[in-house]
Amino acid sequence: MNPETEYREGLDELASHYKEILSLLGEDPDREGLLKTPMRVAKAMQVLTRGYTMDAHQVLRQALFKEDYSQMVIVKDIDFFSLCEHHMIPFYGKAHVAYIPNGYITGLSKIARVVDIFSHRLQVQERMTLQIRQCIEETLHPLGVMVVIEARHMCMQMRGVEKQNSITTTSEFSGAFNQAKTRQEFMNLIHNNTTI
Ligand SMILES: [Zn+2]
Repeated sequence: MNPETEYREGLDELASHYKEILSLLGEDPDREGLLKTPMRVAKAMQVLTRGYTMDAHQVLRQALFKEDYSQMVIVKDIDFFSLCEHHMIPFYGKAHVAYIPNGYITGLSKIARVVDIFSHRLQVQERMTLQIRQCIEETLHPLGVMVVIEARHMCMQMRGVEKQNSITTTSEFSGAFNQAKTRQEFMNLIHNNTTI
């Protein structure tokens, strides 16, 4: 979806609600600087929640390749931006994904796409981690999957609830990653900062 040209139904209604919100926040929505703000916010929010219109399972199913490779495949440092569902304020960071193929692999960019789809919804970090793991499991049926997400939560930082630099880490794993040795191999690989 091209965020500049394709918006979902309800855009005008969304904008009119944002105009109301500006008033409720104590602003004058009719002053020059704010005239186009409700529509801009409505469009931005539709882009930030575009994941609701996309099917992550479908993305992977359409890009399965039969392959005998059966070592760990790692896609690390996938940047993502999401909105916490409690405050609708961003949390953002990096996702790292590993899986051990069982006959099928997928395009590396498709893994990043799956992260993109689940992050463009209202989320909690824990559920997003789980959804990515399940999506890969249910489509690739690998020998194991592990997902690690490291994120900063603006809702905590801006409101002063947590130290400014704290990072929240979540992980989800299955299959071969139940072995501590395999998890450790993945963790070592994502945290060694070799530059290519
Ligand atoms: Zn929050």
